[in-house]
Amino acid sequence: MKRGHFELERYKEEIYHCFRCGFCRELVLGGAYRICPIREELGFETTYARGRIGVARALLEGRIEYSDSLVERIYTCLGCYNCKAHCPTQVDTPSVVRGQRREIDQEGLRKMKALDEIDSNIEAYGNPYGFGKKMRNQWTEGLSLPRRGELLYFPGCATSYDRPEIARSLVKILKKAGIEVAYLGEEEVCCGIPQIWNGRSCSAKALMEENGRMFEEAGVKTILTSCPDCYNAFHHHYPEILGKQPFKVIHITELLLRLLNEGKLSFQEQIKKRVTYHDPCRLGREAGIFEPPREILRRIPGIELVEMRRNREHAWCCGGGGVVNLVYPKLSIKIAKDRVQEAVETGAETLITCCPLCYRQFYNRAWERGLGLTELIVLAAAGMGIKS
Ligand code: SF4
Ligand code: SF4
Repeated sequence: MKRGHFELERYKEEIYHCFRCGFCRELVLGGAYRICPIREELGFETTYARGRIGVARALLEGRIEYSDSLVERIYTCLGCYNCKAHCPTQVDTPSVVRGQRREIDQEGLRKMKALDEIDSNIEAYGNPYGFGKKMRNQWTEGLSLPRRGELLYFPGCATSYDRPEIARSLVKILKKAGIEVAYLGEEEVCCGIPQIWNGRSCSAKALMEENGRMFEEAGVKTILTSCPDCYNAFHHHYPEILGKQPFKVIHITELLLRLLNEGKLSFQEQIKKRVTYHDPCRLGREAGIFEPPREILRRIPGIELVEMRRNREHAWCCGGGGVVNLVYPKLSIKIAKDRVQEAVETGAETLITCCPLCYRQFYNRAWERGLGLTELIVLAAAGMGIKS
């Protein structure tokens, strides 16, 4: 049974704010800046914000319906927020796209095997990869973290299963500063972000409620994240879906910089390297955290930071956002290659990321180009003489 455009109705004002200027395609700012990575690869009007908003408007006005090809197009958006950052009226295209995806899923129009797998893995194991719960906390070996506490570290799925060295480095850095973090252990479940982007809102909400219940039982007042996706889940999507939340959220780069400023931590090791920093879309454009990672890098003795041509709010996406890496892996990799090329052009020896998903996107691409790749927190730990 058709339910109408109940989700798009919520974004009606947003949709009618678009005056079709085209700044979300290209911006001339001391040189031409392309805005939408998907439009650059696929080239159609409906692959960038102006066209996507035009489609949303046509759906709302009943001029078109979701077709298979339109559904596929809607799932090409990375949710990188580059369009919103450059839009004179701040049209929030990624939110509109998420609304469309919720409608598509609820109408049973989503036919994407990769996303069906995510759904069943989350349902069965509480993570999108389908790994067992017991593997989730393997990174804590020898660290003995309490289950309860006011400051809780939430590493999330990508870090726990794919980049455990980030979590280990973070905990060891904080121990050095005399800070003990609580951790939910193998009970932790996905923050809900994959389900938010793939349109399965009931599953996202269930995960949020489960985590929320555990936070309450653990007496949590502040959630510390290292993954930018988790940060935005707690900062933005939990309040949006569940209402006002009883906890604050902080990203490790903010906390680490504060501890450095307070003299509770310092760097002792010389790391002679020319590096460039990739702003993860979720940490930069979505959360507004641009400077703390750079400030941390500048303080590591021997580190020379050089910027890519597109940096901060202009940064090019790694190609992995909005579940595009799962549904369209080839397209996603092409975008990652573009970004790695830009890093190579700086003459840096190492590309620094601060996101486990960006790291995964860049991994083979950086290696092919002879470019080093390091996570910021792991580098910071090395600068303090800590091994992950
Ligand atoms: S989304 Fe914003 S930048 Fe793009 S055409 Fe509409 S008003 Fe212009
Ligand atoms: S969020 Fe990124 S991929 Fe999606 S329309 Fe905007 S610029 Fe393009």
